[in-house]
Amino acid sequence: MTATVLVVEDEREIRELLRRYLERAGYGVLTTGSGAEAVRLLGERGVDLALLDLGLPDVDGDEVLREARERGRVPVVVLTARTAVEDRIHGLRLGADDYVTKPFSPTEVVLRVGAVLQRARGTATGAAPVLSYGSGRLRIDEARHEVVLDGAPVEVTPTEWGLLTTLASVPGRVYSRYELVNRVRGYEFAGYERTIDSHVKNLRHKLGGVGPELVETVMGVGYRLGWSRDP
Ligand code: CA
Repeated sequence: MTATVLVVEDEREIRELLRRYLERAGYGVLTTGSGAEAVRLLGERGVDLALLDLGLPDVDGDEVLREARERGRVPVVVLTARTAVEDRIHGLRLGADDYVTKPFSPTEVVLRVGAVLQRARGTATGAAPVLSYGSGRLRIDEARHEVVLDGAPVEVTPTEWGLLTTLASVPGRVYSRYELVNRVRGYEFAGYERTIDSHVKNLRHKLGGVGPELVETVMGVGYRLGWSRDP
């Protein structure tokens, strides 16, 4: 079944460029340059994902994003001209599933759209696994974005989530600070490898007494997850 992507972008050239690439990749495409019309289209059936420019002339992109969230689970990939970290975080708080910063490569946008749709389908069918570590002491639920340690939920920021899930993707493998900054920067990127240390510190604090043994420091290299994944 073909997925339908709604492209919300007031710049005609970008809109048409995205339409061309998405259609070539086999998607059905609806386009609009108006936030108000986007809200209307989201209310109707048949939109599987919205590509949303935050800077729209009529309704603010934030409003459209909020509507998409309120009207059910339509995944949203935000297009933003602003590269500011706050902008990314702001959008993630409102529930965007991914970000593309302008100027972008249309091929990259198509790839991101595919990845987000795949993730959304996995969530809908319950296919996204709950990963378990240390004989069930740590559980990471990717679909629900939840971390549970010794039975108690741990509230983590998007950056801490990115750090933990990266380390947990291959337990025992050492990740350098540079690697971690690069992998986590979809959420937040301050540009200094040193900032990773303070995020790790906060994450360990939230993980209580087990923090340091769970997120291990490898002197002179970086960090690794100290527990192995349960079979
Ligand atoms: Ca715009």
